[in-house]
Amino acid sequence: MNACRRELAMDHVPSVCPKCQGDMAQGHALDNTYGGVLLSLWQLGPAKKSFWGGLKISSRAALLPIAAFRCQTCGYVEFYAREEFAPT
Ligand SMILES: [Zn+2]
Repeated sequence: MNACRRELAMDHVPSVCPKCQGDMAQGHALDNTYGGVLLSLWQLGPAKKSFWGGLKISSRAALLPIAAFRCQTCGYVEFYAREEFAPT
């Protein structure tokens, strides 16, 4: 994704809470794992258990990083799954 498309996409994330008009702050959702924490990822379809434990992954290329925007006033959280939210 080039810089222009990235800026366009970032215009479509919330800066004002749709519930109370408070300020939204960007964050991310963490998954605790043994020995650390990981960024939550979005995958198409319902979750399915893996034979080996955990969940099935259909295609690693199709997984998207999730950003969580939280209202500083009421706590409402809105999630967005997009490539530009990958860890830097
Ligand atoms: Zn709010």
